[in-house]
Amino acid sequence: MLSNSETANNPEIRTKYPLLSMAMLSAATAQIRNMASNGGNLLQRTRCPYFFETSMPCNKRKPGSGCGALNGMNSNHAIFGYSEHCIATNPSDMCVALAAIGATVEVHKPDGDSRMIEFDDFHRLPGNQPEKDTTLIKGELITAIHLPKPEFSDCYYYLKIRERSSYAYALISVAAGLEVKDGVITKAGLAMGGVAHKPWKLTKAEEFLSGKKPTLSNFEAVAELAMDGAKPFEANKYKVEMGEKAIVRALTQAYERKV
Ligand SMILES: Cc1cc2nc3c(=O)[nH]c(=O)nc-3n(C[C@H](O)[C@H](O)[C@H](O)COP(=O)(O)OP(=O)(O)OC[C@H]3O[C@@H](n4cnc5c(N)ncnc54)[C@H](O)[C@@H]3O)c2cc1C
Ligand code: SF4
Repeated sequence: MLSNSETANNPEIRTKYPLLSMAMLSAATAQIRNMASNGGNLLQRTRCPYFFETSMPCNKRKPGSGCGALNGMNSNHAIFGYSEHCIATNPSDMCVALAAIGATVEVHKPDGDSRMIEFDDFHRLPGNQPEKDTTLIKGELITAIHLPKPEFSDCYYYLKIRERSSYAYALISVAAGLEVKDGVITKAGLAMGGVAHKPWKLTKAEEFLSGKKPTLSNFEAVAELAMDGAKPFEANKYKVEMGEKAIVRALTQAYERKV
């Protein structure tokens, strides 16, 4: 029920989950954040222009009508996890941080019971049902977002690259959190926005960083690993290089908070 502003500026969130606060404060504008609910942000739909342009085909809006973006304007579209049915991206900033942190979503089911959904399982890839953005079942109500015990409160950064500094969604974003002890990374939380139909958790990259030193060469190696397997279109090839550099920068900025 809280607004994005209330959550991002809550003193406990600011001190214990500053990565989440930083990501939320990068979204939209102050006016929109004051109105946007956390439940609504979890369920906001893609900004693909064909989704809004009702004279154009769009499988997400009208299943079976085709995908206008596939051979159309797709410079802002996905480079990972898409299908021939939909190549859209998820636009949320908050959700990228929640993916990096490893949140859980609690939902109230129509039969009166509750269930918990791991954040990485909450949003879905398009497959052959792009009209479905999440794994919610009809009638379910989001009642809470659970956060794990506080981590990454010293080393964190949310890097959002966008076409203008306000009222704009991410072309690419990176949520990076590090736990560093005695000069070694003991845990990493890493996720990207603007690259897939869902917040893109970089599990292999997180595992790679664990036990490594927070050096530029390790950050460069993990960025290359994270972008491995990207399948861009002609118009969004820029996202591969931008994504790699954004990961290095977000990790560097995160670590520099500590030193
Ligand atoms: C111009 C503009 C720019 C924006 N830029 C950004 C940006 O850069 N980054 C970003 O992250 N976001 C951005 N947003 C999105 C914004 O931050 C809001 O998150 C989004 O508009 C959702 O708004 P809302 O809370 O009013 O949700 P609503 O529109 O009220 O809800 C969205 C959907 O979720 C459902 N819903 C809401 N709460 C629940 C619940 N508890 N359980 C089940 N279903 C629920 C509603 O029924 C509805 O279907 C932007 C929005 C605009 C208009
Ligand atoms: S990318 Fe997805 S949302 Fe955009 S036109 Fe294709 S089906 Fe619709």
